[in-house]
Amino acid sequence: MHLDDYNCVLCNEGHEETSLHLFFECSFSKACWNTIPINWDLNLPHLDMVIDARTNFGSPIFREICITACWVIWTTRNAVIFDNGQISINLWKRIFKEELGLVCTKANARRQAPLTVWRDSYLFMILFFLFWAWLPCTFLFLLFCLLCTVHSFI
Ligand SMILES: [Zn+2]
Repeated sequence: MHLDDYNCVLCNEGHEETSLHLFFECSFSKACWNTIPINWDLNLPHLDMVIDARTNFGSPIFREICITACWVIWTTRNAVIFDNGQISINLWKRIFKEELGLVCTKANARRQAPLTVWRDSYLFMILFFLFWAWLPCTFLFLLFCLLCTVHSFI
């Protein structure tokens, strides 16, 4: 099968869409992994990269989380190529949480409880991340308001 373009559609940075790029190197995929958070050390050999990430994640549900995240990256890529889908971290997070809910229902009894707890805390982690990401903006806005107030008294 021949395609006109083999570049990654998720980042549009002119990178060839290899499996390594799509799932780990792509700026969109990295942003997705950061929400979980799982960090991949791309300088390590592939197997060591997985072992390192699993060790740092520190939970037996690593496999389910990883497979679900990869699945949603893959379906996002397919939606962009075949259905004119949008590239959005917020949409990715919503679909990831939905898909993980399906995984929770199919998981074996040992994994079901930790998966459900982790999934429920995922929304909290997103809100926590957004709070810290927006904190400098909030500080600058308050500083701006303070300066405007001081300026109005002069
Ligand atoms: Zn990419």
